[in-house]
Amino acid sequence: MQNTSISANNSSTKDKVEFNIIGRVNSPYKEKFAIPRQPGLVTSAKATIALSNNANNEELVRELTQFSHIWVLFIFHGTQQQGWKPLVRPPRLGGNKKIGVLATRSTFRPNPIGMSVVKLDKVTIENKQVMLHISAIDLLDKTPVVDIKPYVPYSDSIPHANAGFAQTQPSNNLSVVFSPQAQTSLVKYRDTYPDLALFIEQVLMQDPRPAYKQGKDDGKTYGMKLYSLNIQWQMTGLSSVEVIDITAT
Ligand code: SAM
Repeated sequence: MQNTSISANNSSTKDKVEFNIIGRVNSPYKEKFAIPRQPGLVTSAKATIALSNNANNEELVRELTQFSHIWVLFIFHGTQQQGWKPLVRPPRLGGNKKIGVLATRSTFRPNPIGMSVVKLDKVTIENKQVMLHISAIDLLDKTPVVDIKPYVPYSDSIPHANAGFAQTQPSNNLSVVFSPQAQTSLVKYRDTYPDLALFIEQVLMQDPRPAYKQGKDDGKTYGMKLYSLNIQWQMTGLSSVEVIDITAT
C-alpha cells in the first residue's frame, strides 16, 4: 500500500496523519505551466483516475455514475517538496499582493491538499482496473488522489456567496489562431487527439502566462506540454495568440 504523509514538517508524531493513495490521475497536463487555475475553465481537458491498491474495487464506485460531477481530493505532489508559506501572492491579485494562504487556493499550503469539482463522464472496469473518466480538470499528470466524493448541488453550491477577489470567473477572452504549420500538425494528430484544436484553444484563451504578463504582448515564444506534444505559441497582440507549431516531445 502506498502512503503519503501530509503532516507539517515540525508536527509531533501524534499530530501526524497518513493517508493511503486511492488512485492516480492520468492527465494531459504534463507540467504545471498552462494548467488552468481552477477546474471547469477548460471543459475539453479529459483525464482518467485509475483506482489503485485496495481501492481498486468495483464496489467502491457502485452507483457513482448517478452523479454528473465529483469532488477529487488530491495531493499537490508537484509542489509538495517546496514546502509552504503563511502568505502568498494570488495571480488574481496581479501577483503583487500578499494574503494569507488559507484565504487562497494556492498549492503552497500547510498540508498540500487540493480539491477540484470535475465532470464525471463515465466509469469503466477493464481487466479488473476501475477507471474514472473525468473532464474539465485542473490536475497535473500523476496527481495522487486521496478521496472522491459526489458533488451535491443543494449543499455544495451557494450561488450568492461572497468570494472576495475571486467573485467572478477570470476573463478568458484571448483569441487563438493556428499557423499553417500548426494546422498541418492538427491534421497529423487528428486520429490520436480528436479534440486537440479545441483543447489548445481553451487553454490559451485563459492566458497561462504569469500574472504580471497578463494584458501584455511580450513577443516571447512559449512552449507548453499537452499529452505527448510540445505546443509553441506567442502573443500577436494584446489579446491574440498564434499557435506556431505542434511537435512530439
Ligand atoms: N482546484 C484545486 C483547489 O482549489 O484546491 C487546485 C487549485 S490550484 C490554484 C490549481 C493549480 O494547481 C493548477 O493551475 C496547477 O498549476 C496546480 N496543480 C495541479 N495539480 C497539481 C499537483 N498535483 N501538484 C502541484 N500543483 C498542481
